[in-house]
Amino acid sequence: MLLSRFEYAAARTVEEAVSRWGESPGAAYLAGGTDLLTQMRIGKRAPRLLIDIKRIDDLSAIRERTNGDLSIGAAVPLAAIAEHPIVRERYPLLAECCTRVGARPLRSRATMIGNICNASPAADTAVALLALDAEAAACGPSGSRAIRIADFFTGPGETSLLPGELVTEVVLPLAASGWRGAYFRLSRRRGMDLATVGVLVARSNGEDPGRHRVALASVAPTPLRVPEAEACLDRNGAAAAPRAAEIAREACRPITDLRGTAAYRREMVGVLVRRGAAALDRRTK
Ligand SMILES: Cc1cc2nc3c(=O)[nH]c(=O)nc-3n(C[C@H](O)[C@H](O)[C@H](O)COP(=O)(O)OP(=O)(O)OC[C@H]3O[C@@H](n4cnc5c(N)ncnc54)[C@H](O)[C@@H]3O)c2cc1C
Repeated sequence: MLLSRFEYAAARTVEEAVSRWGESPGAAYLAGGTDLLTQMRIGKRAPRLLIDIKRIDDLSAIRERTNGDLSIGAAVPLAAIAEHPIVRERYPLLAECCTRVGARPLRSRATMIGNICNASPAADTAVALLALDAEAAACGPSGSRAIRIADFFTGPGETSLLPGELVTEVVLPLAASGWRGAYFRLSRRRGMDLATVGVLVARSNGEDPGRHRVALASVAPTPLRVPEAEACLDRNGAAAAPRAAEIAREACRPITDLRGTAAYRREMVGVLVRRGAAALDRRTK
């Protein structure tokens, strides 16, 4: 299908982008375009104006703040995040999740912030950002605010962003730099397909040593954390893996679609939580 007619504007500042949106509500922000243009091509969306944010210098960098937190701008592509030395050293879970999105050419174009703003339940970077207690900064017609990633996703394709709000950056707290673990992802075709099931299991070696995180993708209307499964692993480590797996199986609300059945997804959540807990256990031996 041909794209519907639209206008294009390349903003140079955040203020210009937000103000262009104010002049044309119903416009869409354009980052890498890998979701947006695909949705326009199949007729799912037809914005009259695309506001390109890729040329905004302020959004194109990864910066360490004076307090040690790491800010990732909205125009930074996934490949640059995965290769960034501070991300690799302090937040390897995020680097891993970024490299699981599509194939290399896609990751050179697509952004992490586009991935979360698209709000697919299968968004691979969302599980790492949930586990790392990340926060998004949004700027819109009514001003600026911070949104915890835990409060960001509200449904399939839906977020807590207000009309016209632009996410300018995602901030990773320094305190989250000790999390280590693995992201297990099942899909039909590597590099070409969304996750059928995604399970991240991690443990802190930094602040709060011994604390766990369990985050799931593609098994509920939004990516989600399972605090009860985390608490179970906190108390008893790998010995509690079967119980944590059961809790995670109960917490998910999968659907049946072309990528897998609800029953398969639920079963795999249990298998992958156990696998993740066992992998953490092996690391400490
Ligand atoms: C072949 C293929 C394979 C893929 N594989 C995967 C995969 O394995 N895992 C996965 O998770 N995804 C996958 N995707 C989906 C997609 O590539 C990602 O979601 C990508 O990260 C989106 O980023 P983008 O910069 O291209 O966003 P865009 O397409 O530019 O934008 C996506 C949406 O977010 C909005 N938006 C973008 N930036 C902002 C902002 N700063 N503030 C507010 N709103 C904003 C846009 O208006 C749009 O609604 C795949 C896509 C394709 C085409």
